[in-house]
Amino acid sequence: MPKASLPGKCFDVAIIGAGVVGCAMARRFTLDGARVVVLEKAADVLDGASKANSAILHTGFDATPGSLEQTCIAHGYREYLEIHESLGLPLLKTGAMVLAWDDDQLAKLDGLVAKAHENGVMDVAMRSRAEILAQEPQLASHLMGGFVVPSEYLIDPWASAHSYILQALANGAELHRDSEVLAGQFDGSEWLIETSKGTVCSKQVINCAGLYGDVIDQRLLGKSSFIIKPRKGQFVVFDKPASDLIKAVILPVPTATTKGVVIFRTIFGNLAVGPTAEEQTSRTDTSTEAGTLRELRAKGIKMLPALEKYEVTTVYAGLRPATEFQDYQINQDATQNYITVGGIRSTGLSAALGIARHVASLNTRSGFNGKTITAPICPNPDRLSNYHPRDWQSPDHGGIICHCELVTRREIEAALDGPMPPATLQGLKRRTRVCMGRCQGFYCTGPLSEITKGRINPPIGVTDE
Ligand SMILES: Cc1cc2nc3c(=O)[nH]c(=O)nc-3n(C[C@H](O)[C@H](O)[C@H](O)COP(=O)(O)OP(=O)(O)OC[C@H]3O[C@@H](n4cnc5c(N)ncnc54)[C@H](O)[C@@H]3O)c2cc1C
Repeated sequence: MPKASLPGKCFDVAIIGAGVVGCAMARRFTLDGARVVVLEKAADVLDGASKANSAILHTGFDATPGSLEQTCIAHGYREYLEIHESLGLPLLKTGAMVLAWDDDQLAKLDGLVAKAHENGVMDVAMRSRAEILAQEPQLASHLMGGFVVPSEYLIDPWASAHSYILQALANGAELHRDSEVLAGQFDGSEWLIETSKGTVCSKQVINCAGLYGDVIDQRLLGKSSFIIKPRKGQFVVFDKPASDLIKAVILPVPTATTKGVVIFRTIFGNLAVGPTAEEQTSRTDTSTEAGTLRELRAKGIKMLPALEKYEVTTVYAGLRPATEFQDYQINQDATQNYITVGGIRSTGLSAALGIARHVASLNTRSGFNGKTITAPICPNPDRLSNYHPRDWQSPDHGGIICHCELVTRREIEAALDGPMPPATLQGLKRRTRVCMGRCQGFYCTGPLSEITKGRINPPIGVTDE
C-alpha cells in the first residue's frame, strides 16, 4: 500500500461519493466538528442517481411505518424546512393528491390514509371526487376519489445538494473530484484509501457510493450485504405553459415497488410525467426508449386530457440505487470504523439530511478534535426557481445568454468562478439551467462556448452532451 498522498494529514471522516447523500453527510460531519474529505470518482458532484429525479420533498406518508426510510425521510424533511431559508434554498408548497382511477385503487385509499397517520403525517385527509375536481378541474372525469397530502413540496434537486457540500467546504471540508476509490486498508485505527489520484488517510469511512455501494463494500471490506439492482425511471417533460394545468403533485395509488407514474410541476416551471420503474443490470445506462415515452405521455393524457395540446420539451431518465431489500441498507462495522449507506432508492433527496443525522448518531463522533460549528458559513445558492426572484429580473446582470431558461451571463460566470466550479456541461446545466429549455442549447451554444472556453471538458460545441 503506498503512503498517504497528503503526508501528516489524516482526516476524521472520508465520505465516498458526492451524490445528495454524500453532500448532506459532508455538511453534517463538518458541522459536528470533523475534518472531512469527500472522494468522488466523477468530474463533478451529483453525477450518479442524484442527477435525475422528480425533485419532490416527500413527507414519507406512504413509507413503511417504523422503517429506517420512514424515520430518515421524516427527519430529512423537517431539517430541510428548518434550514432552507438560511441556505437560500427554494421551496414550493404544492401539496399532493393520491388518486384512484378504478375500484381496486379506491378500495386501498382508507388503508393508505391510516398508514399516513401512523407515519405522523396527520394532515392527510380523504376527499370526494367532487372536491378533488373542484381543486384540480383539468383532471379526467373518470376519476373515482382520492386523498390530499397538503405538506408535500417541490424543491431544486441540485441547488439543495450543492448548498450542503458548499457549506461543508466553506467550513473546512475538502472535496476531491476525479478521485475514484479503488481499494482501502484499515490498520486498526486508520484507513489508507487508494484513489485514482493518490492515497488518503482517514480514521473513518462512510460509503455513500449510491449505484456502486456494493462495489465499494467489496473493494474495502471484501464483502457486501446487499446487491445493487439499478431501477430506471424515465420522464417526459412538457413545455412550461403546461404547468398551469395542475397545482398539486398527482400521485397514483403506489405499489410495493414504485410510487407509480406521477404528474408534477418542477420548481423550474415545467410539467413532467414519470417515472417508470424498470429493473436493469447497467449502473450507467440512462437512455430513454421511444415506446416507453409514448406510453408515459398517453398515461399522462389519460389523467389530464388537456396535456394533449402541449409539446414535449425534453425527456430524461434516472437510476434508483435499489437493492433486494425494501428498506435503506445503513450498516455499521464498528470494528473497522466503517459505515455503509446503501440502497437509498427513491426517496434520498427528501431523506438525505435525515440519513446524515442518523449516521452521525451512530458512534462515530469519538475522536473528533474540532468543535461543533454553531454559526456555519452559508454559501450563496444557485437561485433557479421559476417561482422565486431570478437574476434576469435585476439590473446589471450582464445580458441573457440562454433565452429559454433566462440564464444570465452573470449567473454563468458566478458558477464558473465559484468555490466548486463545474467541470462539464452537465455540471454547468445543474448550476444554471443553461441549455435545459425549449431549444436544448441550439441557440446559446455559440456564446456559451466563448464564456466557458478552457473551463469545461469536453469544450461546449465539440461534443453534444
Ligand atoms: C427516477 C427517480 C425519481 C426520484 N424521485 C425522487 C423524489 O422525487 N424525491 C426524493 O426524495 N428522491 C427521489 N429519488 C431518489 C433520489 O434521487 C436518490 O435516492 C438519491 O439521488 C440517491 O443518492 P445517493 O447519494 O445515495 O447516490 P448517488 O447520487 O448515486 O451518489 C453516489 C456517488 O458516488 C460516486 N461513486 C461511485 N463509485 C465511486 C467510487 N469508486 N469512488 C468515488 N466515488 C464513487 C458516484 O459517482 C456518485 O456521485 C428519485 C430517484 C430516481 C432515479
